[in-house]
Amino acid sequence: MDIGGNSLPSASDTVKRKVSYFYDPEVGNYYYGQGHPMKPHRMRMTHALLAHYGLLQHMHVLKPNPAREKDLCRFHADDYVSFLRRITPDTVQEYSRQLKRFNVGEDCPVFDGLYSFCQTYAGGSIGGAVKLNHQHCDIAVNWAGGLHHAKKCEASGFCYVNDIVLAILELLKFHERVLYVDIDIHHGDGVEEAFYITDRVMTVSFHKFGDYFPGTGDIKDIGFGKGKYYALNIPLDDGIDDESYQSLFKPIMRKVMDVFRPGAVVLQCGADSLSGDRLGCFNISVKGHAECVRFMRSFNVPLLLLGGGGYTIRNVARCWCYETGVALGIEVDDRVPEHEYIEYFGPDYTLHVAPSNMENKNSREMLDNIRAKLLDNLSRLQHAPSVQFQERPPDTEIPEADEDEDDNKDERKDPDDDVNVDYLRVKMESVEPEAKDQDEMEVDKDVGEADESLNDTECLKDSTLPIKVEAPTSESLHTKVEEDNSKNPTEQPEEMDND
Ligand SMILES: [Zn+2]
Repeated sequence: MDIGGNSLPSASDTVKRKVSYFYDPEVGNYYYGQGHPMKPHRMRMTHALLAHYGLLQHMHVLKPNPAREKDLCRFHADDYVSFLRRITPDTVQEYSRQLKRFNVGEDCPVFDGLYSFCQTYAGGSIGGAVKLNHQHCDIAVNWAGGLHHAKKCEASGFCYVNDIVLAILELLKFHERVLYVDIDIHHGDGVEEAFYITDRVMTVSFHKFGDYFPGTGDIKDIGFGKGKYYALNIPLDDGIDDESYQSLFKPIMRKVMDVFRPGAVVLQCGADSLSGDRLGCFNISVKGHAECVRFMRSFNVPLLLLGGGGYTIRNVARCWCYETGVALGIEVDDRVPEHEYIEYFGPDYTLHVAPSNMENKNSREMLDNIRAKLLDNLSRLQHAPSVQFQERPPDTEIPEADEDEDDNKDERKDPDDDVNVDYLRVKMESVEPEAKDQDEMEVDKDVGEADESLNDTECLKDSTLPIKVEAPTSESLHTKVEEDNSKNPTEQPEEMDND
């Protein structure tokens, strides 16, 4: 288990991190269909690069446990998950009404093994969150995850289940606050929507905005109710280059880390923001993209790295391989090693590719205005919101652990319930709805008339978020967790050989 690297709280940026890497050898076999730009094969190409660069031996390589139906239903509607489980290419005719209702068929086709594909990519992200919660690693990686468009009861943008929301829900069991950062070229709409009305999750999305899928992510969308100012949107235009991108990313993320003080960070590393992407229109290099990983890593907060979009698959593999190296603190060679997919990387066979000479439509003035506006919004959050702990009301269904919890660490509160909450001292937070101020009441009135995205039935209300552990000290950023002596082997992913 001990594979080197310092534990994170004491690590400086130059020190190695313990990295858990989730990969299922089957994932590359799933196929969305002829002509579809989403190709799970890119994860297999990434894995092959990692193997031949010798990076696997520096990580804990894990095969994810498939997410169970009840795991998926922590966010998704039961009938939607049940539909995903049952539908096959042979039975689509019988489900025409539901296909329409759940937006499955066009961008999100029914293909062989669809449900097990969902279980696999969601299992990796949830598993990564569990590993981080138990401090088994400093950084967890699941390149198969990051499917940020999926909604509670609807597929969208090649995404069926939202592994990111599920992973964040898992992290919220141990952390008061979780930060979500999205550098995919598309707006991270599914994750933003799920946590739009809570201050326990801040979502930050950098994306192309204006006549572009999914159409949301205006700078004016900032969250609602308790979540006001806890959603950040950075709308960008075509051709943004490394320098322009980082002129926003670093000052904004530095300020976010300073004011929000998350206990864990989830970074969606969608690679369709790279130069030359089949569906994208940005001009970012692999190094520029990876600079976001390097920067978020430097804060020494538990970090979950996920994939996402990325449709020029040789560049996706380049990017995620290089970023795995960044996570490990290893600078990989530019020369791509000989391996089974080497022909994808000709004629130069290099890891890095020069950005193009396309026009950068993001003027300095526009970038300055965006940065100023967002830093101003963030300055309204001078203090990290603290989570209030309250004695559990007697009528709740979740039993409170005995005060003498040492004797009860292994008792699951419900054998059918979710992962790894059994040995935690848990207390319910206040679920009292706060009185809304006038400002919010005004917005409230407009909901449904003007802005369908504020339909809060799709949001996870604070009262539905996981109960939290009590942090041992108020000043600790990292909630300490009881030693994991769970006897439940099904929660521990299977370790894989490193080759
Ligand atoms: Zn995308």
